[in-house]
Amino acid sequence: MKKVVIATNNAHKVEEIRTALDFEGWEFLTLSQCEPYAEPAEDADTFEGNARIKARAAFEHTGYAALADDSGLAVDALGGAPGVFSARYAGVHGDDAANNEKLLCELADVADADRTARFVCSLVFIDDDGEETCASGTIEGRIAHGLSGEGGFGYDPLFLPDAFAGEKSLAEVTQDEKNAISHRGNALRALKAKLS
Ligand code: IMP
Repeated sequence: MKKVVIATNNAHKVEEIRTALDFEGWEFLTLSQCEPYAEPAEDADTFEGNARIKARAAFEHTGYAALADDSGLAVDALGGAPGVFSARYAGVHGDDAANNEKLLCELADVADADRTARFVCSLVFIDDDGEETCASGTIEGRIAHGLSGEGGFGYDPLFLPDAFAGEKSLAEVTQDEKNAISHRGNALRALKAKLS
C-alpha cells in the first residue's frame, strides 16, 4: 500500500479527501496517526503557498507522500479579503461567528450587485519521491445580508452560490450537494485528473 498523509486536523476534510481520491492501493493517514511534529507557520501570502508549507512539513517529517489544502474566501468589494486571513479575519483563529459578523459589517453599505465573492481551495500533493502536483478550485457566489442555514462551517451561512441562483446558502444544503460544486470538491477533482 502507498501511504499518503493528509496534513490537516479537520475531520470533514479528511473524509472528503478519502472519498474523492479513491485510488487503488492508497492508504490515507491522518496527522494523529503520525509521530507528532511542530506545525509550521502558515505565513505565505497565497493559498497555494500555505498548502505547500503544510504538505512539505508532513512529507519531511513522516517520509510518506503528503497532501495539504488551504482555502478561504475572497470578496471583490474588499479587494480579495479576507483571503489567506479567512480563518482569523476577526482576530481569533477559527471564530466563525465573529468572522461572519465582521464580514457583514464590512459589507453593510455594499449593494447586492457588488457583493460578488468566491471560495478558493489550493491543494499540494507531494509524492514519496518528492515530486509535487498542485491543483485548485473555486466556487462563485455572493455574500448575503444575513446568516441562513445550520450546516457547513465558516462562511457557509453567508455564501449564496451562483449554482443555486442565489436562493440558498452553502449552509442550507447537504454535504454531498456542497461537495458537488464546492471549491474543495473542484480542486480534488482537478487533482485526481492530474494524478490519474
Ligand atoms: P482552512 O483551509 O481550513 O485553513 O480554511 C480557512 C478558512 O476559510 C476557514 O476557517 C473558513 O473561515 C474559510 N473556509 C474555507 N473553506 C470554507 C468552506 O467550505 N466554507 C466556509 N468557509 C470556508
